[in-house]
Amino acid sequence: MKLIERDKAHLWHPLTQHKTATPPVGLVKAKGSLFWDEDGKEYIDAIASWYTSMYGHGNEAIIKAITAQMESLDFVMFSGFTHEPAIKLAEELMKILPANQQKIFFNDNGSTAVEAAIKMAFQYHHNIGEKRDTLIAFEDGFHGDTFGAMSASGLASYNAPFEDFLLKVKRIPVPQEDNLFEVLELLEQILIENECAAFVFEPLVQGAAGMKFHSVSGLDAIIKRCQETDVLCVADEIMTGFGKTGTNFAIDQLEYKPEIICLSKALTAGMFPLSITSCSQKVFDRFLSEDVHKGFFHAHTFSAHPLGCAAAIAGIKLLNSSEIKNQRETIASSHIHFAQSIKDHPSVKNVRCKGVILAIDLNIKMERYGNLRDQLYQFFIERGIVLRPLGSTIYVLPPYVITKEELKKIYEVIEESLVIFN
Ligand SMILES: *Cc1c(COP(=O)(O)O)cnc(C)c1O
Repeated sequence: MKLIERDKAHLWHPLTQHKTATPPVGLVKAKGSLFWDEDGKEYIDAIASWYTSMYGHGNEAIIKAITAQMESLDFVMFSGFTHEPAIKLAEELMKILPANQQKIFFNDNGSTAVEAAIKMAFQYHHNIGEKRDTLIAFEDGFHGDTFGAMSASGLASYNAPFEDFLLKVKRIPVPQEDNLFEVLELLEQILIENECAAFVFEPLVQGAAGMKFHSVSGLDAIIKRCQETDVLCVADEIMTGFGKTGTNFAIDQLEYKPEIICLSKALTAGMFPLSITSCSQKVFDRFLSEDVHKGFFHAHTFSAHPLGCAAAIAGIKLLNSSEIKNQRETIASSHIHFAQSIKDHPSVKNVRCKGVILAIDLNIKMERYGNLRDQLYQFFIERGIVLRPLGSTIYVLPPYVITKEELKKIYEVIEESLVIFN
């Protein structure tokens, strides 16, 4: 029996309406920027498997690091024990994170990194007897699917059945060149009328919202104002982290640095589920006390999994290699070149680039999980290109190791789609 037939018997896939969905593709191999399915058909992974496998699938250096780690120390609890890979990873992160970051807390996926950040923020205030119960977040943000992370997220298509059970969140629009005054006024009103604990945001690019960009100086102004009232700023760099926006982290482009940062996805090069919630000394110190209950009583069984840490250390080494840096620049300039060539196409409403991210809004309206969007998705799959349009936004975020020919093929198929979906 084929994989897709066996899959049907017992598997429940994420983000899938099983009554109407077309069957998934059964994969048997991945290498570099490519996948192969069970019939031998080849695909280009144009979004690096949700922007995780940035150094390519089956990367030899990452495999070697994980294998060596597995043979020396596979797994131990991280309460009461520590180990070289966790310590080394923290040391390596200190070299590339903003200077205000001092402490690394480990989790096992993106949602739980945000969840830990939100709990840290609430308890930060609680530990000095303040009851701050409100989060500030951007409209249309995405921070994950656990309850705290979901509360901070503002994409209604995910949250509707759970609206009554969410945390208290006040939303502001993302800052653009023309609305900053209104956004800051709204923020001021929220700060006056609520007890705000934290501001949770995707810095500079909102991924799931459709790769929407916002203003650097506007975000700086919001962070500055939050910090004046001791509202902790939580940068969710789970998508943007590790080189996607041109800099190692999107917040490297800001003047004001957040107190808390969430990392996952490309952290482990797609080889292992692991995430990090890093924070400043100021946040950490608030949990120090003779009173045991002022500590952070939050843990995941697989915290600081040595295999994940080993993958992450190897990943950071690759990120900073001249080879990957050159590749990042080549991809960024190819995107700009391609964007120029299609910007006046009648099917294109908007095309934008930041770092290795290219996003194209089509002129045609598509529901996020609508028929037409699914047809567009299938159009790419049939042509061996893995792209997951967000509504009518097509985005490319390829592995850094993608070749010029592979990129060219992606662009060609997108151009073809512009003619058909107009
Ligand atoms: C993917 C993502 C998350 C959630 O991470 P999971 O590992 O899927 O739980 C949170 N925030 C952002 C910005 C993401 O892109």
